[in-house]
Amino acid sequence: MTVPGADETYDAVVVGAGPNGLVAANHLVDAGWSVLVLEAQPEVGGAVRSDREVHADFVHDTFSAFYPLAAASPFLGAMDLEDHGLAWTHAPAVLGHPTPDGAWALLHRDREVTARLLDEQHPGDGEAWLVLCDQWDVIGPHVLGGLLSPFPPVRSALAGLAALPRAGGLSFVRTLLAPAAEVGSRRFGGRAPRLLLAGNAGHADIPLEDTGSGLMALLLTLMGQTVGFPVPVGGAGELTRALARRFVSRGGEIRCATPVVGIDVARGRARAVRSADGRRTTVRRAVVADVVAPHLFGGLVAAEHLPLRVRRGMRRFELDPSTVKVDWALSGPVPWASAPAHAPGTVHIADSVEQMSRAFREVADGAVPAEPFLLAGQMTTADATRSPAGTESMWAYTHVPQQVTRDAGGGGIRGVWDHDDCERFADRMQARIERLAPGFGSTVLARRVLGPRELEARNANLVGGSINGGTARLRQELVLRPVPGLGRAETGIAGLYLGSSSAHPGGGVHGAAGMNAARAALAHARFDPRAGHR
Ligand SMILES: Cc1cc2nc3c(=O)[nH]c(=O)nc-3n(C[C@H](O)[C@H](O)[C@H](O)COP(=O)(O)OP(=O)(O)OC[C@H]3O[C@@H](n4cnc5c(N)ncnc54)[C@H](O)[C@@H]3O)c2cc1C
Repeated sequence: MTVPGADETYDAVVVGAGPNGLVAANHLVDAGWSVLVLEAQPEVGGAVRSDREVHADFVHDTFSAFYPLAAASPFLGAMDLEDHGLAWTHAPAVLGHPTPDGAWALLHRDREVTARLLDEQHPGDGEAWLVLCDQWDVIGPHVLGGLLSPFPPVRSALAGLAALPRAGGLSFVRTLLAPAAEVGSRRFGGRAPRLLLAGNAGHADIPLEDTGSGLMALLLTLMGQTVGFPVPVGGAGELTRALARRFVSRGGEIRCATPVVGIDVARGRARAVRSADGRRTTVRRAVVADVVAPHLFGGLVAAEHLPLRVRRGMRRFELDPSTVKVDWALSGPVPWASAPAHAPGTVHIADSVEQMSRAFREVADGAVPAEPFLLAGQMTTADATRSPAGTESMWAYTHVPQQVTRDAGGGGIRGVWDHDDCERFADRMQARIERLAPGFGSTVLARRVLGPRELEARNANLVGGSINGGTARLRQELVLRPVPGLGRAETGIAGLYLGSSSAHPGGGVHGAAGMNAARAALAHARFDPRAGHR
């Protein structure tokens, strides 16, 4: 038995039991290492958790909800999580975007159905959709493979180049590089594909007019088309619980409610991890930090131990915007003014691409958006186990600035995000749904508002309500993530690896940052004669 204050030793300590931390921990334990995971919160999961706080009969995903990246991730796929209790399920339609005139842009998992629906709204768009899908079939796996590999992704880049001529050659590269606002209008005549693409770009904080937003739009929309937006049966937390069960079944140890308060570095190597309970755990080989960069560099690791380029880079580190999330327990399905042909799990809410752009610009300029772009989820539609038959477990979130200078909606929201700010802004969000679904408010049995502070209190990685471990804009991506010159899990301190969404390839539940960190740790331990010696 280990007593608080006493030394204990593991091959590796993983700080944080989010999806990245748990993927890293599993890979290291598979390699035969002794691994301890230390998690600050009372339960594992990070931003992949669910709870019954809103209403005892309803399961709500506390943070993230839909997992195309997890479904496509080779790392999660290789872990056979179904053997550890995970089951996926899908809504009848992947994604829907209602407009005030009663139309819906819909993405169905059957591409022929999506094409037919698009064609009904604008003849010719169905065929253009199928062409885009065919091109993605050729190039998409290489794009995804490249994004999920450590930088530079040599193998995927070469395979992608070889496949490019079959995907339309340079004209497809132009599509990938175009801003999201343009991708849709270049290829389609109607409004629906533009809405679907732009809405998916809106999952990241890249303005729709910027390079990089088109890639995000294509990636998520076509992943929706090819793998869907699946959800774990029973709640998001089932995904991370399956990862934790697998890890423990292979001999790993997890300690929850144990915040790490420091990482000891001596002679340029990470040596030990200190936790709030007074324990000091020494590491023979590696510390993997599923911790966001601003908390790791200059926080858990004192600034004096950091390489100069990390110290300098962190001065310019940019968070992604803040977030307000609202969860509802509804007595019935959402009363959409016009019902969609197929009920979607994910719903995007904006009257037009232009309105979406305006909301993003307002956030970038420090304004609380007047008409926020909402990402919403009808979870019982996606998974019948989430609430009693005939009801709906629903959420919506949107972004607000980290530093608020004004309220573009003129509602006096100050941006301090106390109870008053949060409730007023939640009313604004709810009013947007009400306009499209009259009577929505009267179906609300219970509501919870998670502002930036509540999000951060439930997961310290969500600094100021940011959800992506740092902006996804090009200036902080690839070799620039999280600071110029890093781009990989190595931190410049031997034995310390960054395995959170602050590392390439950033946010989303794919486990790549964790896997890259674990692989880097294993590779260095193989070749570094100092690893294992203190
Ligand atoms: C509201 C919201 C909605 C989202 N929606 C989606 C979605 O639908 N689909 C999708 O793919 N992605 C979504 N994301 C993003 C996705 O959830 C994250 O990118 C992903 O969870 C990042 O995984 P991670 O392991 O890097 O970090 P996290 O999941 O944040 O986990 C980090 C863990 O580390 C712990 N920790 C931090 N510091 C310490 C410390 N000092 N000591 C001990 N433990 C510590 C935290 O408590 C936490 O448990 C969403 C995120 C949010 C917040």
